[in-house]
Amino acid sequence: MEGEARERVGLTLLRRHLCVVLLAFSFCAAGLPFAAPPSAAAPGAPRVSDIRAWTNEIYTRVAIDTGEEVSWQANALRADPARGLPPRIFIDIRGAGIRDAILRKPVEVRNGLLRQVRAGRFDRDTVRVVIDLERESAYRVFALPEPFRIIVDIDGEGEIPVPPASPDPAAPPGPVAATPPPGDPTALPSAIDPPAAPPAASHGPAAQPRRRLVRVMIDPGHGGKDPGAIGPTGLKEKDVVLAIGRRVRERLSRSGEFDVRMTRDEDVFIPLEERTAMANKGGVDIFVSLHINASRNRKAEGFSTYVLSRGASNREDLELAARENGVPVGKLQGVKFIIDDMFTGARKNESLRLAKTVNDAVVRHVSTRYPGAQSLGLKQAPFYVLVGARMTAVLVEASFISNAREESRLRDPSCLDGIADGVAEAVRYYGQNGILAHSDF
Ligand SMILES: [Zn+2]
Repeated sequence: MEGEARERVGLTLLRRHLCVVLLAFSFCAAGLPFAAPPSAAAPGAPRVSDIRAWTNEIYTRVAIDTGEEVSWQANALRADPARGLPPRIFIDIRGAGIRDAILRKPVEVRNGLLRQVRAGRFDRDTVRVVIDLERESAYRVFALPEPFRIIVDIDGEGEIPVPPASPDPAAPPGPVAATPPPGDPTALPSAIDPPAAPPAASHGPAAQPRRRLVRVMIDPGHGGKDPGAIGPTGLKEKDVVLAIGRRVRERLSRSGEFDVRMTRDEDVFIPLEERTAMANKGGVDIFVSLHINASRNRKAEGFSTYVLSRGASNREDLELAARENGVPVGKLQGVKFIIDDMFTGARKNESLRLAKTVNDAVVRHVSTRYPGAQSLGLKQAPFYVLVGARMTAVLVEASFISNAREESRLRDPSCLDGIADGVAEAVRYYGQNGILAHSDF
C-alpha cells in the first residue's frame, strides 16, 4: 500500500512536471508546453511583483515572484553575435502582468555567469523574463507554490559538465525561440550591454584553493511570522530549533575544523528557497536543516532524520513535508519541481550516510539524559528546503513538539545540548570520514 502510494505520487509529479527542465543549451531541442492553468489575462490577474537573485560566480538562483499560480514556459537561446545578443534563458509567463518598476530596472548581477535579469511584455498576454548570460550554462527551472514563484538555477563551471555547444541545425532552440517576433524583448537593443570581459581564467575548480575548512550551513527552520509547529503548552518550533542551531554552531566552531554558518541567527522569516540558495552560494559542503516534528497523534514520539526524495513512503511523512513546506498535502503532490539526479543523485548516498549518522548520534546523546528516547530512523520525503541543494543535505526532526512529554523535554536546556551534541558529533565524523575521503583537502 505504501509502495503504491509512493508510485502514485511519483507518477503525478512526473506527469505534471513536463514543464520543468534541466537542460544544457545543446539539449534544448524544443520548447516546452505551457503548464496548467490555462492562460487567462484578466483584471486582477497575477503579476510579476519581484525578481530576486542569489549569486556567486559558480551558481546563481533567480526567483520570479508572481504570487498566484501562472502558466509558464522556459527556453533558451544561443548567443547571436550578429545582433550583439548574449546567450539567454527566458521564461514566458502567460496571463500575468508586471510591476512597472521591474520593467524599468533590470536586476544587475554581473558575476561572470550572469549579466542581468530583465523583463518585458512579450505580447498582450505574456510577460517574458530574460536572463542574460555571460556564457552558455546548464540550468533548470521549477516552481514553488504559496506564494507562487518560479525558480531558475544556473550553474557555472565545476558542478555540471556542460556539453560543448553544437551548431547542429537539427536542434533549433524551440518554437518560441525559432521565430522571435520583432518585438521580442530578448532582442531589445536598449537592454543590451556592451560585451563583458570574459570570465577570469581562474574560475575552474582546479584553480580554487585546495585547503579550506569544511563549510557547514546550519538551518534553523521557520522564524519570524512562521512559528513552525506549536506544542500543547505553547512552545514554538522556531525558538527551539534556533536554540539548537546556536549550540551546534558553538560545538563545531570550537573544533577549528569547520567554517560554520547559519541561515538565520535571529527570529526572522526566510523563504525556503533562499535558505538553499544561501548554502549553494556559499559553497557549503554540509547543510543541516533543524526542525521539530508534530502529529495529530499526540502519542507520536521520537527522532528522525530525512533526506530529499520525490515522494514520501507513507501518509505521515507526506503530511510532515507538506507542513514543513507550508503547503496543503494536495499542493505538495501537484507541485512542479523535480529532483534531478545530476545534483541530488550525486549527493544522495552521502546525504543518506550523514542522515543515519546524525539520527543515531542524536538519539544516543539524548538517551544519556532521557533514557528511552525513540529513534524513528532514516527517512525520505519531498522537503522544499532541500530541493536544489548541491551539497550533502539532511533535515532533522528532533522529536515531537505535539507530544506533551517531548515538548517538556524540549524546554530543558540539557535536552537541547544533547541534540546539538549529536548533530555536531555526526557532522564532525562525516567531515572527517566522508568529505575528506573524496576531496583534496
Ligand atoms: Zn519545521
